Amino acid sequence: MKIIVTGGAGFIGSHLVEKLILDSHEVIVLDNLSTGNLENLDQIKNKIKIIKCDLSIKGSWIKNFKDIDIVFHLAALADIVPSIEHPSKYFQSNVTATLNVLEASREFNISKIIYSASSSCYGIPKVYPTSEVEKIMPLYPYALTKYLGEQLVMHWNNVYKLPSVSLRFFNVYGTRSRTSSNYGAVFGVFLAQKLANKPLTVVGDGTQSRDFIYVSDTVEALIDSAFNNINGEIINIGYGLTCTINDIVKLLNSKFINIPKRSGEPDCTWADISKAKKILKWKPKISLKEGVNKLMNNIDYWKEAPIWDEKSIEKATKSWFKYLGHQSEK
Ligand code: NAD
Repeated sequence: MKIIVTGGAGFIGSHLVEKLILDSHEVIVLDNLSTGNLENLDQIKNKIKIIKCDLSIKGSWIKNFKDIDIVFHLAALADIVPSIEHPSKYFQSNVTATLNVLEASREFNISKIIYSASSSCYGIPKVYPTSEVEKIMPLYPYALTKYLGEQLVMHWNNVYKLPSVSLRFFNVYGTRSRTSSNYGAVFGVFLAQKLANKPLTVVGDGTQSRDFIYVSDTVEALIDSAFNNINGEIINIGYGLTCTINDIVKLLNSKFINIPKRSGEPDCTWADISKAKKILKWKPKISLKEGVNKLMNNIDYWKEAPIWDEKSIEKATKSWFKYLGHQSEK
């Protein structure tokens, strides 16, 4: 099939592109390389077409949708903390770009679009494990813009009958997870600290827990959504278990320090994945222990990553404390 992957130079996108090439599809990557990196596609760069473009601005990139069967829309600004300081940049990349991708898909009658949504739409959930019908409560601009993107996708599905599926990812981890200058996902932060023999910075007392899903399982869910006969569905993608940050520290076998807890962050994320199992016939394969082993075998990837410490994290999360401190009182 002919497939477009937006955000294909990013973490999840590059793993997806590799798998699609392995499965003999033709792939075009659309990416503005803002947080993505061409090196992520090094091993397959001769087998794909890469177009550098900003999807939030309509342009000649749209003509690439001609004769495309499937669009995987992964492009987005995906770090949480900077979204509080730059909400309009996030709106452009996560909402306007999604609108442009939907319109391009509609114009060229593509057969299906798969949207990568975020479990952050649940905010601080009341029910665990959390299912797709749980109340929506975005607490910061990243969560809101990803949810607005999902709403657009479902609206285009309803009104224009554009076949689509939205997958709400929980905490995706794996090799090539973002190491940009932004303070972000826990594994990127911890692995760079471990390599530099610095203490891991554990937020709060480390008893908060997350549902971690390995990137290859996420890629399988994306592919299953595209090729299974389902349409108009919103589906959680997580491991279906939750694990504390202290458990990760133990698995990484490192020294650590505790830094201030951030109110407005959930104490637990935990996906109810019964819908994915039922309608996608998908289930995760890689346990956290196996996943962490894979990371440790590739730890050199994080050699160039920024090494965070208590002080630089305090500076980077200033706006979090300024704007989100009240959230947990609601
Ligand atoms: P990533 O930052 O590694 O990849 C995103 C890619 O989108 C990057 O290559 C970036 O350059 C590109 N991009 C950003 N804005 C763009 C624009 N305006 N035009 C063109 N390209 C643009 O992030 P990721 O972790 O691989 O996330 C992929 C998708 O999955 C995102 O939509 C993200 O919101 C979603 N998601 C990720 C997680 C996770 O845990 N990683 C969890 C929930 C949802």
